[in-house]
Amino acid sequence: MGRRGVGLQEAGLWLRVGGAREERPGRFKNNNQEKMMLGLFAIDPYFWVTIPGVLLAMWAQYRLSSMYGRYSRVAAGRGLTGQQAARYILDRNGLTDVEVHEVHGHLSDHYDPSKRAVFLSSDNYHHPSLSAVGVAAHEVGHAIQHATQYSMLGLRMSLVGVTNFASKTAWFAILGGMILSSMSPRSGTGRFLLLAGILLFSATVFFQVITLPVEYDASRRAKAELLRLGLVTPDERGGVDKVLSAAALTYVAGMVAAMLELLRLILIFRGGSRSDDE
Ligand SMILES: [Zn+2]
Repeated sequence: MGRRGVGLQEAGLWLRVGGAREERPGRFKNNNQEKMMLGLFAIDPYFWVTIPGVLLAMWAQYRLSSMYGRYSRVAAGRGLTGQQAARYILDRNGLTDVEVHEVHGHLSDHYDPSKRAVFLSSDNYHHPSLSAVGVAAHEVGHAIQHATQYSMLGLRMSLVGVTNFASKTAWFAILGGMILSSMSPRSGTGRFLLLAGILLFSATVFFQVITLPVEYDASRRAKAELLRLGLVTPDERGGVDKVLSAAALTYVAGMVAAMLELLRLILIFRGGSRSDDE
């Protein structure tokens, strides 16, 4: 979904509406890494461990696009576009200096803490729908978290640099470790590299874990603000709930997939130590 970020954005400094695949740390940054990992399946008896995570992530993406699509066609009662709703909630919270910009891409909506600005995808920026208003309010929720120094957002932001480094180096250490181990099983260097890779990968999983409360809290704030300010009626609330829950589910699915990937790596590591004993 949307553009690939550079620098800090690669490690997910942006707070996007759905767990956009290329935004999550720990995922492949390019096709070469992906090919290398596919090659690993040939020598990895534990790849099946990751299958439920992949299926769950696919299902969550499907559910987000279907819920988002459904409520994109339902007009919000007040007739506000995503941009107008975002502006209104920001102003009512005293955040008149936080700007709202349009950004290209499908569901590329995010809040950028470094710019203190809300970015809405063209669809959400211009259209008056329950999906647009819900997503806009969610991104404003992040702006409110930032302004009120919400602790989990602060923790997440402080870990962006480390996570960025870890997500760039983890797979190289893992791959290097596995190749070295298979070439000379008695050498400790391969095992050490593999363990280092697993620890680096764990850092990216931890980042995904602390992203979850940040996302749920932003949606909670979004729904409360929309109702409090009368931007959606109690009747319309269900639609906004469904879109935001589907978006949150993509983060849960991404986290579960990353945890299973971690489990697989640990099984590979343990498998290696068992064959050493024999
Ligand atoms: Zn978010």
